[in-house]
Amino acid sequence: MEIKNKVFAITGAGSGLGMATVEHILSRGGMVMAIDHSKEGLDLLDHSPRVLSKHLCDVSQNDLLTTTLRQGQKHWGHIHGGIHCAGIAPAAKIYSKTKGSHSGSLFEKVISINLLGSFYFVNAITPILLENEPEYPDGERGCIILTSSVASYEGQIGQVAYAASKGGVNAMILPAARELASHGIRINAIAPGIFKTAMVDSFPDKVQADLAAQIPFPHRLGKPSEYGQLVISILTNVMINGSVIRLDGAVRMT
Ligand code: NAD
Repeated sequence: MEIKNKVFAITGAGSGLGMATVEHILSRGGMVMAIDHSKEGLDLLDHSPRVLSKHLCDVSQNDLLTTTLRQGQKHWGHIHGGIHCAGIAPAAKIYSKTKGSHSGSLFEKVISINLLGSFYFVNAITPILLENEPEYPDGERGCIILTSSVASYEGQIGQVAYAASKGGVNAMILPAARELASHGIRINAIAPGIFKTAMVDSFPDKVQADLAAQIPFPHRLGKPSEYGQLVISILTNVMINGSVIRLDGAVRMT
């Protein structure tokens, strides 16, 4: 898919990987429908309304997300692709001597934002992409990218809810790609390793240094722009479909 003059809905656009994706799409001549539940995050996006619209929305609210994406389609005329970066990563053990058992409501919250939110995004954007004229020679109508995590494969202690939510994202990709193929819509997920965003900045410096030390090469935390770069590769390479792509410097968390 060409990016120039196309419109992309990006969730989690107010920070980290989502914000880097906004910059990459704009730098290639695309337009952005920026979605986040944080007004402060959206306020950081300082771009002309000719290329970027801002939408406050909680992705775990199915009806609200559907309405928001329809508003974006009405505003821009079309939406050609969606990159879903909104997510949370709270840590909690199944049982901790000091904190007791894992709260059920925390588990539900992580599933609700990370997994249900991903499904709601796919569900809401698909009928909008279906309205696009197919782009030849391949007949492509749209492309969706979800965000998983290497924790879906090698979750660490304290990541039981997070790993379960991202494992669910991985499992959705192939059946979704098979179903959407007949409409000319591709879907993939990116499974980042450890990237220097607000999510990881909230960890103590020593934890960040220990995490970086585990990354074989390059021996450092990932840069959000490297996530944005992969988004561009997936969008522009029509052969990438039905995959969960690790972006992790070969890290395998112990
Ligand atoms: P971040 O905290 O910098 O950004 C997340 C954004 O999502 C924020 O702007 C936040 O306001 C928004 N958000 C959170 N809940 C939302 C909701 N319910 N509705 C709408 N917006 C919501 O985090 P990030 O590092 O950029 O993470 C982006 C995605 O990448 C997440 O899904 C995360 O799980 C995944 N990920 C990150 C890393 C990493 O190392 N940073 C690693 C693996 C996976």
